[in-house]
Amino acid sequence: MSNKENSFKKIVSHAKQYGFIFPSSEIYDGINAVYDYGHNGVELKNNIREYWWKSMVHLNENIVGLDASILMHPTTWKASGHVDAFNDPLIDNKDSKKRYRADVLVEDYVAKIEEKIDKEILKAHKKFGEGFNKEKFISTSPKIATYQNNSKKILTRLNKSLEKNDLEDVKDLIESLGISCPESGSKNWSKVKQFNLMFSTKFGASSDNAMDVYLRPETAQGIFVNFLNIQKSGRMKLPFGIAQTGKAFRNEIVARQFIFRMKEFEQMEMQFFVKPGTQKKWYSYWKENRLKWHLSLGLDKQNYRFHDHEKLAHYAEEACDIEFKFPFGFKELEGIHSRTNFDLGNHEKFSGKKLKYFDNDSNESYVPYVVETSIGLDRMFLALFSGSLKEETLVDNSIRTVLKLPLSLAPVKVAILPLIKKDGLPEIAKKIYNDLRYKFNAAYDEKDAIGKRYRRQDALGTPFCVTVDHQSLKDETVTIRFRDDMKQKRIKISSIDYTIDKSLSTINLLKNL
Ligand code: ATP
Repeated sequence: MSNKENSFKKIVSHAKQYGFIFPSSEIYDGINAVYDYGHNGVELKNNIREYWWKSMVHLNENIVGLDASILMHPTTWKASGHVDAFNDPLIDNKDSKKRYRADVLVEDYVAKIEEKIDKEILKAHKKFGEGFNKEKFISTSPKIATYQNNSKKILTRLNKSLEKNDLEDVKDLIESLGISCPESGSKNWSKVKQFNLMFSTKFGASSDNAMDVYLRPETAQGIFVNFLNIQKSGRMKLPFGIAQTGKAFRNEIVARQFIFRMKEFEQMEMQFFVKPGTQKKWYSYWKENRLKWHLSLGLDKQNYRFHDHEKLAHYAEEACDIEFKFPFGFKELEGIHSRTNFDLGNHEKFSGKKLKYFDNDSNESYVPYVVETSIGLDRMFLALFSGSLKEETLVDNSIRTVLKLPLSLAPVKVAILPLIKKDGLPEIAKKIYNDLRYKFNAAYDEKDAIGKRYRRQDALGTPFCVTVDHQSLKDETVTIRFRDDMKQKRIKISSIDYTIDKSLSTINLLKNL
């Protein structure tokens, strides 16, 4: 097993062992690409959602929220283009009977070439040591140039074929690259076919007049159909944004990607409505703004990169992804799209209702342009979880597993631990716990030796452990231990609240934005 697979496996099993994520309906052997969040997972997920909401809605005076329904009138999806064009190209391996996304097979092939480039760079770095100039090496190494040209050629051909819907060429490409089934190694491929990703269901009580409806594949359309409701009732002036978080459903063709690609997932989306002609400026603004948001959380900058799209979705004028270095390589975490007036324009056409904005300044009516920021909450969870899970070797050579989540997003903020289960220590600890609970998600733990309890809290990312010992009986002090450096300090019981609050408050993060 490769290092990458090994570390991914560790992340999945840590998430399960510590109550973050379980396979859905596991007692029935689970259901592919659907997951449940456990008692710690739901706290972390709520905290990420809240951080996004506060920074997007509460801190921008021209952005407001919305909670639209999952089921929408089916014509919505005709107008948005999803009925006709929300497809993935799929291919079956005839021997293993496994189904794959044809474009993903090719992209994974290209990712391997990129890994080779990284290896070349690493080799050269080792060889030349301190004075190594990475940019110069990349621009002058003939081997790297060949790899880069090769990747570019493959991706250009893939994108062109997909744009033209030339599925035979996509199959040809897979065969000419010698791509084999990752499960069985077989190269016996079926034709490439398009597959619509929307889940449909019946709406209505009697089967005769039940209407076919879809589970929404994105939250964005709920925002577009409410554009005028919000603009009018909120007396909003352009530019302004509408944000919402909520479930979306896609019948994805998935192979073991944990919560990266799920059939039921949650999105956090914001549609920013602007005057036509200003969309380029706002697109750049949101691109930078969103990267800043990610960096505010404190993971290493090297984990993020932009990927500008060459192949654009049917509605987009410009688009990019913020990619994150997941355990299985750089992949899309968030999309930023300049969506033109495609959606509002089409909803006007299909509904026959005007969706124009009256501009008081220029005395004209027009359909606004839209810049969208769209991030998967579950992918954000995986990015933070995988980027924070560390194994550290301590001075005594033991290994400590610690989840170094951003402090204010940690599921449990403080654990109160009586050193032993007698001599009145549990009583003091319980009192502290009961007082702190009003403000922080706190835990009380008296089982096992203290060292073991510290490790348990480290593994789920708890920033502070407060230990009540015999000295607490005498002078009303406790020790407070910080997760990241394991340093302990003696403080007054009365100052625990302040000590925790000042380093945990989300305000610290938000002020950095
Ligand atoms: P991908 O190329 O990975 O399929 P996409 O380009 O289709 O993603 P968008 O339609 O732009 O994704 O959706 C916006 C965001 O929603 C993505 O950046 C991602 O974070 C999240 N997302 C999309 N599909 C899924 C999924 N199946 N499971 C979890 N998150 C998803």
